[in-house]
Amino acid sequence: MTRIAIVTGGTRGIGEAISVALKEQGMTVVANYGGNDEKARAFTDRTGIEARKWDVGDFDACQAGCAQVAEEVGPVDIVVNNAGITRDGTLARMSYDDWHEVMRVNLGGCFNMAKACFPGMRERGWGRIVNIGSINGQGGQYGQVNYAAAKSGIHGFTKALAQEGAKAGVTVNALAPGYIDTDMVAAVPEPVLEKIVAKIPVGRLGRAEEIARGVAFLCSDDAGFVTGSTMSINGGQHMY
Ligand code: NDP
Repeated sequence: MTRIAIVTGGTRGIGEAISVALKEQGMTVVANYGGNDEKARAFTDRTGIEARKWDVGDFDACQAGCAQVAEEVGPVDIVVNNAGITRDGTLARMSYDDWHEVMRVNLGGCFNMAKACFPGMRERGWGRIVNIGSINGQGGQYGQVNYAAAKSGIHGFTKALAQEGAKAGVTVNALAPGYIDTDMVAAVPEPVLEKIVAKIPVGRLGRAEEIARGVAFLCSDDAGFVTGSTMSINGGQHMY
């Protein structure tokens, strides 16, 4: 049976690698994205995976987008909540909008997508939700109270929802990446990045494919006994 997966923010960076890994695992993948049509088109040309645009921070847009996928592609078995943004700054410089937008997209997106897809998974007796957290949600990070709070919230959200899905065959897990070589990390100033890499025991940034392999495992039938967990893939930077 072919499983149907939605990967939010699935058209570039870590999300692209996840979309490709799930496709390679035999799943039918729909990659959601937020607004960059050009990158989405290039992604579809590269991978043959369909891309659909909606804002994961918008409750109604998630309802509509997921209903359309269900109608046109089939019932959604797997959701990977990967879409994420940063609006960094110290608390003194961070505006209310910077706070709210990161909460809306990064944490609100998980709620909105689960509201749209989790009930159907439960009814059908099988489902997988993987929420992409962050090492900075586990340990905090200077200049990221918004991002760290949203990502930390994802870890709590995961453990709570896992309890609601467990008896119905729906697993809910988080994956917390360390620093991965994507556009998001390219935005970090070079001197700051050098200091970060110096703290990674394996001595390098991670690759998107290394995260994608972990997600592919959590989405597989083999991972049916794994739920409410956080898989850390971070080169040894955070070990507890
Ligand atoms: P990128 O910035 O490279 O890509 C982000 C993706 O999310 C894009 O596809 C983007 O779409 C999409 N997106 C952004 N906002 C929305 C929205 N409102 N609705 C729908 N899609 C949206 O990010 P990364 O690949 O680096 O990160 C992926 C995830 O991994 C994020 O959740 C991030 O927080 C997390 N993470 C990343 C780490 C890293 O080191 N890179 C470390 C730890 C966690 P579009 O192209 O249209 O803008």
